[in-house]
Amino acid sequence: KITSEKIKDIFIKIADVLIENKNYLTELDAAIGDADHGINMARGFTKVKEKIEPNGFKNNSDLVKTVAMTLISTVGGASGPLYGTAFLNISKVIPDSDFDIDSLINIGETVIEGIQRLGKAQQGEKTMLDTIIPVVNSLRESKGKGLSLERALEECKKAAEEGMKATIPLQATKGRASYLGERSKGHQDPGATSSYLIIKVIVDELI
Ligand code: ADP
Ligand code: MG
Ligand code: MG
Repeated sequence: KITSEKIKDIFIKIADVLIENKNYLTELDAAIGDADHGINMARGFTKVKEKIEPNGFKNNSDLVKTVAMTLISTVGGASGPLYGTAFLNISKVIPDSDFDIDSLINIGETVIEGIQRLGKAQQGEKTMLDTIIPVVNSLRESKGKGLSLERALEECKKAAEEGMKATIPLQATKGRASYLGERSKGHQDPGATSSYLIIKVIVDELI
């Protein structure tokens, strides 16, 4: 059983990693955006830590909903509402007992649905979805092959890293980076990078 104490632990680790990578994410955003992605994420996740660390939660849904609302009200920019909606959607489907591959696919699908409902981006537009969509596809493939949860999680991490790196040659057609047109090529997308960092923590903690 994955308790809300365990999920809380995962969020605290995610927060620490994003705070550690504040300058890196901000530098990536300086190249193709407005140099605030690391600042936005670190601000939001610092607040998330403050909100969840001292408190107990009656279930996973309650905890994840608190994270989502905190992100929506503190991250700002394009990424705040997108991540906020993603986590709000997760709070509606997250199980309280065992996580199997189906529950992870379910979570991934609702994340993509929320981000696309708000941001209208497809894969290949140089956004966070270029990390997230391959991860969910990889989970579906692993399920098809009958891989163990552990192997499926390993595959997820590879897919996330490849997806993130695949944003480098892409031209951005959504978000601020799209204002640069052709000049957005040759840089890794900041949101795809923060999504990779988040997914990496989750996978490492669940394995
Ligand atoms: P802002 O661009 O408002 O300063 P951030 O810098 O915090 O916000 O976040 C930028 C990131 O948000 C981008 O790198 C990209 O991954 C993501 N993003 C922007 N627009 C969209 C969209 N329509 N769909 C999905 N992700 C998006
Ligand atoms: Mg920005
Ligand atoms: Mg901004």
